[in-house]
Amino acid sequence: ATLDTLDIVVLGAILVASVAYFTKGSLWGVQKDPYAASFANANGMKAGKTRSIIEKMEETGKNCVVFYGSQTGTAEDYASRLAKEGKSRFGLETMVADLEDFDYDNLDAMPSDKVVMFVLATYGEGEPTDNAVEFYEFVSGDDVAFSESNEPALGNLNYVAFGLGNNTYEHYNFMVRNVDKALQKLGATRIGDAGEGDDGAGTMEEDFLAWKDPMWAALAEKMGLEEREAVYEPIFNIVERETLNKESAEVYVGEPNKMHLEGTAKGPFNAHNPYIAPIAESRELFSVKDRSCLHMEVDISGSNLSYQTGDHIAVWPTNAGEEVDRFLSILDLTDKKDAVVSVKPLEPTAKVPFPTPTTYDAIVRYHMEICAPVSRQFLATLAAFAPNEETKAEMAKLGGDKDYFHEKVSIFHYNIARVLEVVGGGKKWTNIPFSALIEGVTKLQPRYYSISSSSLVQPKKISITAVVESAVIPGRTDSFRGVTTNYLLALKQKQNGDPNPEPFGMSYEITGPRNKYDGIHVPVHVRHSNFKLPSDPAKPIIMIGPGTGVAPFRGFIQERVQQAAGAAEVGKTLLFFGCRKRNEDFMYADEFEEYQKSLGDKFELVTAFSRETSKKVYVQHRLRERAKEVNELLQKKAYFYVCGDAANMAREVNAVLAQILSEERGIPETKAEEIVKNMRASNQYQEDVW
Ligand code: FAD
Repeated sequence: ATLDTLDIVVLGAILVASVAYFTKGSLWGVQKDPYAASFANANGMKAGKTRSIIEKMEETGKNCVVFYGSQTGTAEDYASRLAKEGKSRFGLETMVADLEDFDYDNLDAMPSDKVVMFVLATYGEGEPTDNAVEFYEFVSGDDVAFSESNEPALGNLNYVAFGLGNNTYEHYNFMVRNVDKALQKLGATRIGDAGEGDDGAGTMEEDFLAWKDPMWAALAEKMGLEEREAVYEPIFNIVERETLNKESAEVYVGEPNKMHLEGTAKGPFNAHNPYIAPIAESRELFSVKDRSCLHMEVDISGSNLSYQTGDHIAVWPTNAGEEVDRFLSILDLTDKKDAVVSVKPLEPTAKVPFPTPTTYDAIVRYHMEICAPVSRQFLATLAAFAPNEETKAEMAKLGGDKDYFHEKVSIFHYNIARVLEVVGGGKKWTNIPFSALIEGVTKLQPRYYSISSSSLVQPKKISITAVVESAVIPGRTDSFRGVTTNYLLALKQKQNGDPNPEPFGMSYEITGPRNKYDGIHVPVHVRHSNFKLPSDPAKPIIMIGPGTGVAPFRGFIQERVQQAAGAAEVGKTLLFFGCRKRNEDFMYADEFEEYQKSLGDKFELVTAFSRETSKKVYVQHRLRERAKEVNELLQKKAYFYVCGDAANMAREVNAVLAQILSEERGIPETKAEEIVKNMRASNQYQEDVW
């Protein structure tokens, strides 16, 4: 048979299409600027990307994927550490993946010679992290629908699981436990134990390290992997762009994304795209010299942002100049701090965690969590790049010996640059590839604050109540300072007349990249929460909020004052507040007096001042004293709210409430505990703790 013209055209088209498919476009000059593309995948431009993880792994030649469900970045960080270790120690072809970037209906087709790892944080009241919601709903649903109908559905799937949780919460490591259970039920095979890290006990890092070694051993055995001597293989190529400088229009000097660079920033504003909000007003709430608590009014009227009473606002911080300088200096990058670089992933699944081209200074100042606690494992990795043998041995010892690390690093609250300074005796660390730092230092994270205003009263202005983080560390000449709250303090000082604020000797790039934050602005976004007033204002509420835990309750009470003024019937509004001393850190005392006038006997403030008497009195003691009334209110279906310190206060309040119910109702404590559990399950008991 002869081919007619149409056939030839069709065949030709098929040929072109298959060449394009098998070469993945590389013959077609698709990658015009090899450096420009790198941030695209990290920046939400996912058009045309597959949502099939199996396809993705096949395309990229991977046999191990590490999924993360992460809210604050720790789970993401652990995921990339697992991926790196799998590659360097066992030669696994690993990739890291955000759970929300893929679909799971073909998980049953995952070949049995591959392994899937899950690193899953539990958020708040036993919730999945935002990026894990869909995955969680899919695997834990009653009728999980896979594309094929294998029996058992996930009989081929080999997986590894680690959870990040906090034992002070009711639903400790809920995510990893439930996902593990769901996968088992579907017939998947877990390799090693399902690990659980505990932030509440402060042992997250050590729990992770203790879990991973037996897991690797089990995995090596199951997959027949040979361990080799770990060699560092960079994931990113850092290319210096000599034709550009920090004034060049395409160079990012701290702008969070392309729209911000080009001056076209617009909504929706969210966790990938902050709103540069004016701070309308800021003031100090404490009247004591050495401690500070900020009240700030963030104006969102120029954005399409909205909030509801009880939501959280996220503040995007920048690092203190002194810490940026220290970090660059110990790496001998001071002279190059304004040099422009592009960061290019050396393998297709890696994401560059910030936009480029950019400068070293901007990377460190705006994108790296350089002040955070140091990971012991990271010190072991850096040992290979030590300036001399002695330092190398010391780094290896710190990396390998938990107690030694604690004694030499943890107790001093050192950050990475300080460790390098101390261990190397001040010698510059010129051998560390910058890629290793991008990989090993967590991405700078926004910090959340419980909004302390009512959206009914001021829908376009968000109040923040933040205590400035600082700690005197024995054995250190300077004290430890928190990143975000000291940046906010500098903003407050500037707003209140200090042209060059340097709280505690720290200075900040207050006017932001290219002065875009001038006039006292701060990058923010809003996160919606489930911490909410009852919809019926006549319902009584009991609020436990010592210290900054009072933040959302200021909003709650403002709302009730407004509702009462609008002639709504408002239920009993009982607030337990605690602080050290009435005349030092009793924040909003005047406002509470005003609220009292407006609400009359509907509002009552019960205070606990811990340092005014010889015996420390806390909110939970006051709660106990009010046992009878608390029980009566709960019988009238009062909502019960706890906000603030998760480690001690919230847990004790929970215990005291159970005791109250037990005594007042004459029931056994176990029964009372059951009632409290049920209150939580039905949202009658709500927590906003950190
Ligand atoms: P960071 O630099 O993050 O330091 C915080 C702590 O981490 C330090 O105190 C220290 O214990 C530890 N740490 C940091 N670096 C090191 C190191 N190198 N070595 C050892 N330890 C270290 N806070 C409020 O004040 N008001 C609120 O209303 C409020 N609401 C919140 C709501 C939610 C949902 C959450 C999750 C948190 C909330 N927080 C609130 C806490 C807030 O998000 C910040 O954690 C807090 O302000 C500290 O931020 P920072 O950047 O100043 O300190």
